[in-house]
Amino acid sequence: MRVAVAVGVSTPPVATMRSSCTRRIVAVSYRFVSMHMAAAPLSRTLSTESVAARLTSAGLLRTKGLIGANWTDARDGKTMPVYNPSTGEVIADVPFMGSKDTEDAISSAYDAFPVCSYLTIPASSLLILRYDLLMANKEEIGQLITLEQGKPLKEAIGEVNYGASFIEYFAEEAKRIYGDIIPPTLNDRRILVLKQPIGVIAAITPWNFPLAMITRKVGPALACGCTAVIKPSELTPFTALAAVELALQAGIPPGVLNVVMGDAPAIGDALMANTRVRKITFTGSTAVGKKLMAGAAGTVKKVSLELGGNAPCIIFDDADLDVAVKGTLGSKFRNSGQTCVCANRILVQDGTARIFLWLIYWLLFLSFFNYLLLLLFCSNVVYLFFQASMINLLLLSPKPFRFCKLVMALVKVHPRYAFITCGMFRKCYESAMSVLLIFSLCSPAESC
Ligand code: ADP
Repeated sequence: MRVAVAVGVSTPPVATMRSSCTRRIVAVSYRFVSMHMAAAPLSRTLSTESVAARLTSAGLLRTKGLIGANWTDARDGKTMPVYNPSTGEVIADVPFMGSKDTEDAISSAYDAFPVCSYLTIPASSLLILRYDLLMANKEEIGQLITLEQGKPLKEAIGEVNYGASFIEYFAEEAKRIYGDIIPPTLNDRRILVLKQPIGVIAAITPWNFPLAMITRKVGPALACGCTAVIKPSELTPFTALAAVELALQAGIPPGVLNVVMGDAPAIGDALMANTRVRKITFTGSTAVGKKLMAGAAGTVKKVSLELGGNAPCIIFDDADLDVAVKGTLGSKFRNSGQTCVCANRILVQDGTARIFLWLIYWLLFLSFFNYLLLLLFCSNVVYLFFQASMINLLLLSPKPFRFCKLVMALVKVHPRYAFITCGMFRKCYESAMSVLLIFSLCSPAESC
């Protein structure tokens, strides 16, 4: 198939636009603007101190690792700072743990396993309690996610709903862990499959969904009676710590959940080498996943890996443009462009490419305008949707936006805008890179 290439965004000549195109642009942008105007509130004012103080008084800003019933420092006393990517301020220091601390956490999980593995039916009610607590603290946990991860508050609260839904789902499943009766080939045999908890599991999670990746791994583990050592990302440990605090409040016995963070390779190696860890579940980069898989082979652990991300967005001529444009922008800029399924290239069929580009330009312009208003009237803005990502797009696609250098200067001079650089560039590769790549595709018939 021939691919006519437009890397970055190139401006189509105005004269060639048809009047029907103009009508469609007006219609789509009208719907887009009304959608955004309806999504109140447009901004929320959060400062690191006020959010941290509120979370501390709610008992949800935990700054130590959890081993057994104890919130602990690293054995050697080392710490590391965790930053608010919006301002660059340090939220708090957390322990920089290593292999010895990981051994302690594994022992704690191993010792708790006999208690936990007989809990299957009560586990369900404990999980429901945990679900209720997460939902009751939705706003606080959402603020914590925004504080350390940088995603807009609306999305952060959405993540709490999403994360809690895994707990609810597996709480229900906990009651129904049925076995199987398998017809034997010999008449004097009976084959029964009984499902039993595997033992201690290790869960290593990334920074882009600091709550949901944990509940998605730990929910099913708890439901079937396993105990866990959790290693959240060093960039976003507070949400994990708050989540286990709520688990303790829900009555999940101490030792069942343990949290270590710090020296990721040392923790990973200790988890892989230990024969008492029976399963590893990991979401993150392919490179680290390969290392963990190789490490798990040495002690023959079960492995569940969710690696990398590649997400082309393909738009054909018969697409509903309204849905396609909004869907493309939503997909590209969700979580500030930092989910593993954010569109990393956009392929548009020839017949639609021009109007599609115009619509994208126009909606980005509206968003940029909206963003400027927020900068003028709000301090320390927590962005909705993709205002911040948009700036990144301007910076990286110089052709149509020649004033990008000015924007870059703004980014540099004011710490409030550091969000743009930290949030956008700290992981500036794979799909996290918010460069809008639009290619136009010829029709399949033409390509023959
Ligand atoms: P991402 O690009 O999504 O941040 P990473 O694979 O770098 O993906 O990180 C995902 C998680 O894996 C994080 O918690 C990180 O600390 C952890 N991690 C990174 N390197 C290792 C390692 N060698 N062993 C174990 N965990 C690791």
